[in-house]
Amino acid sequence: MADTKDDLSHFLKDVHWLLDILQNIDVGLVVLDAQYNVALWNQFMQNHSGQAPEHVLGNSLFSIFPELSEDWFRRKAEPVFVLQSAAFTTWEQRPHLFRFPHYRPITGSAGYMYQNTTIIPLIDTHGEVEHICLIVYDVTDTAMNKLAQIEANNRLQGLSRIDHLTGLFNRGHWEHCLTQEYKRFDRYHISCSLVLFDIDHFKVVNDTYGHTVGDDVIRCVSECLRAQLRETDIAGRYGGEEFGVILTNTDTDGALEFAERLRKAVEAQSITTATTDVKITISLGVQQLSETICSTQNWLEGADKALYFCKENGRNRSHASE
Ligand code: GH3
Ligand code: MG
Ligand code: MG
Repeated sequence: MADTKDDLSHFLKDVHWLLDILQNIDVGLVVLDAQYNVALWNQFMQNHSGQAPEHVLGNSLFSIFPELSEDWFRRKAEPVFVLQSAAFTTWEQRPHLFRFPHYRPITGSAGYMYQNTTIIPLIDTHGEVEHICLIVYDVTDTAMNKLAQIEANNRLQGLSRIDHLTGLFNRGHWEHCLTQEYKRFDRYHISCSLVLFDIDHFKVVNDTYGHTVGDDVIRCVSECLRAQLRETDIAGRYGGEEFGVILTNTDTDGALEFAERLRKAVEAQSITTATTDVKITISLGVQQLSETICSTQNWLEGADKALYFCKENGRNRSHASE
């Protein structure tokens, strides 16, 4: 008799401890019955939702959290009841299950708590699952670090594609785009043209006004170019004062129209630099892609040949190779 009493008292003590742990553990615990009514709500859930157990116990999870997608959650939880196996959702799939405000004192950024959630079946003494338990982990720190890392990588990747002086694509990335467009033409045969252009007598600008003014001139030409571009055009700084533009969905006539528009815009511009006003002109070579062009290199050579023709024939003009 005494043994039984001792056993019972030990058992109650164990249960008491377990309940204490359950309340104080730093993860959210929610038990739901088969109708998705709340049967257990620990302190973590109370602290972060602001909802006391007396307001949630016995109520439907979907009425407590109307923003929780019922369809999605049922699809996730039903197999836990039926198959008696756990399910998981991570913050990467869905940033949070419960929208809890989260203030991060370190970065000062206020937002919502990122969560990973495990849903486990609670198997009763008859081997049935009439309840499931949600275990909600606060993974805000991990998520913020990972997101910051992704953002930094994207920024670095962006920077490695950009020419510092002009903000246009640098030669490496622009040539990569050129290869992509060449392959696209090879497959789909949609017209595409290349324009290469070069500032006329640029050495004179450098020699007369100095390298800094020369840099200003290069920057102004790139701004003039940017103003003429469509969203689908791909412009890059090919060399010192040489630029390349890929005009997608554009044939020779369209490319020559673009080239003349740009040429006239540059010619009309008086470039104001820190020390002086400079006027310059450009020469432009055009090459449309066709069956006879057998490589990216070949395509570039065609445009370069047309550009050379302009230089040989008085400059400040545009010309297309056959
Ligand atoms: P052309 O009309 O035949 O093109 O004559 P050009 O004097 O422009 O000759 P070219 O295109 O060969 O000259 C390029 C010059 O551009 C040579 C180089 O000193 C200068 N250059 C190249 N890169 C830069 C740069 O980043 N800044 C400055 N200021 N000058 C550069
Ligand atoms: Mg040049
Ligand atoms: Mg030049």
